[in-house]
Amino acid sequence: MRRPPRPVRSRVLNRPFVRPSCVEPRRPGWTRVFACLLLVGGLAGCAQPAGPARPWIGQAFSTQAVSVSHPLAARAAMDMLDAGGSAVDAAIAAQMVMTLVEPQSSGIGGGGFLIHYDSKLKKIETYDGRETAPASAVPGLFLDQRGGPLPYRQAILGGRAVGVPGLLRMLEMAHRDHGRLPWARLFGPAIRLSENGFPISARLARQIAGDGLIHRVPAAKAYFHGPDGPKPAGTILKNPALAETLSAIAARGAEAFYSGDIAQAIARAVSRAPHHPAKMTLADLAGYRAVKRPPVCSSFRYQKICGMGPPSSGGIATLQILGLLEHFPLTASGPNSARAVHLIAEAGRLAFADRKAYLGDGDFIPIPVQGLIDRDYLADRARLISPDRANEGVVEPGRPPGAKGAAYDGPSDETKGLSTAHMSIVDRFGNALSYTSTIESAFGSRLFVRGFLLNNELTDFSFRPDWRGRPAPNRVAAGKRPRSSMSPTLVLGPDGGFRFATGSPGGSRIIGYTVRSLLGVLAWGLDPQSAADLPHAMNRGGATEVEEGLIGVVDALRAKGHRVAVSGMRSGLQSIERTAEGLRGAADRRREGVVLGK
Ligand code: GLU
Repeated sequence: MRRPPRPVRSRVLNRPFVRPSCVEPRRPGWTRVFACLLLVGGLAGCAQPAGPARPWIGQAFSTQAVSVSHPLAARAAMDMLDAGGSAVDAAIAAQMVMTLVEPQSSGIGGGGFLIHYDSKLKKIETYDGRETAPASAVPGLFLDQRGGPLPYRQAILGGRAVGVPGLLRMLEMAHRDHGRLPWARLFGPAIRLSENGFPISARLARQIAGDGLIHRVPAAKAYFHGPDGPKPAGTILKNPALAETLSAIAARGAEAFYSGDIAQAIARAVSRAPHHPAKMTLADLAGYRAVKRPPVCSSFRYQKICGMGPPSSGGIATLQILGLLEHFPLTASGPNSARAVHLIAEAGRLAFADRKAYLGDGDFIPIPVQGLIDRDYLADRARLISPDRANEGVVEPGRPPGAKGAAYDGPSDETKGLSTAHMSIVDRFGNALSYTSTIESAFGSRLFVRGFLLNNELTDFSFRPDWRGRPAPNRVAAGKRPRSSMSPTLVLGPDGGFRFATGSPGGSRIIGYTVRSLLGVLAWGLDPQSAADLPHAMNRGGATEVEEGLIGVVDALRAKGHRVAVSGMRSGLQSIERTAEGLRGAADRRREGVVLGK
């Protein structure tokens, strides 16, 4: 297929990014823009990208590339590739460094999903390292004494929300399949940095200072706060406890984490948590299994797009949105036109209705995976989208082929997500991966043990186990994986070769961020950085949410009947595209990731 002409990376066309200071929440739009003008002394300041120089823009790498959420983790990944390692080797080294330098987002105390393309076999596999609920978990875990759902902030703190971490078992499985360097070697950079210390980044410092819960957990407070309160940016932070933990895992494999003294420390931290202690046993930890699952794939404009199946909702929702949009001449209008934003929002609305009704852990509930992305089903659903009128408040879940019983139609609680991290990597052998990992909310449960934070992933379950007598598909159950929105995605070109890897953090907004990145590259022919720079637009079943860069189309959206919410969004897209010129990378300006390559 001929690719549409590559547009100039135009700030005027895309108005890609607004400084974080310009998107301070909770002030009406124009006041904010005006405040920003005063603050930086001119419109140019508002439209200028924040953060470090981005030397990878305009570069095409011929051999290998990494796009990782933190510069030190990206360096570790590149070092492994330089040493002849594979994409999986690089991802593991980066993830270990991220446990140290970006502890608020992801780490060995959490979980993740990795999707891998093997260039020799031209084969895609997905690895599920999602946390599981311990055996003690009950459906009403997040209900208060009166049977109502707990406030999210209350639910995340302490032992109750901690799921059995899945990350290390998953990475070990992926390494067994695709690793080239010895396992222990991958831990070297993180161990050295833990011993010698790293400077707290601006983003980490902001998140420590802005977090209202760390100080309530003594071990976390002792690490993240100094005598004068939250540690500021630039403070050199050492973590000898993590160095010791990682050394044990380097020497003895993931088993060192899932049994013995580290497992005992985790179980103790959860059951003796200062807030909401809960029961996590050694058997829960020893029994954790990572799972290799088939990818969920479909096509969009002659490209094969593959994502993560259940327990993530990300792959299916992303493919549904793209499949619905294929019924409209999307590229006739620009990515920031009212028409494109309207269609994207309407497709999102339909996908989120199905997500709530059908998605959860497929090992526990029947999910009509193929039915949900079936072309005829999506063609039918697309008929519900009017080019002129928003389906505000009237969208019901559909009836995909293979669905059993009536669709669940209870309320859904969506999170926006300030933690989580994504990386995309392509190695010299042509293998590629897209990998998202998380400890759920920023700093997870705030329980800090052996130098790392434990997740609060169980709050991704539906808090209400039933609705009008019907069980929620994503209700809590022992051993079950909470539904995720993480959407690590790989795109293969018509020749079956790797074309594009993308993904993002951001709670259930991840789906919208990922769709925007995919559309930017595949529908509008943007380079990946320009696609990541596009102002976001999505609908998760409520208001149509847009970033400030789309303020110009808000009136037109309202005229079509949309309820519109304008706010800054903290996506963290990390993407790599293979083009005729080489590998081009993108790192979202809204966070602190980078691209490295050669
Ligand atoms: N826990 C969320 C999920 O798996 C991700 C949270 C975030 O991105 O901040 O969907």
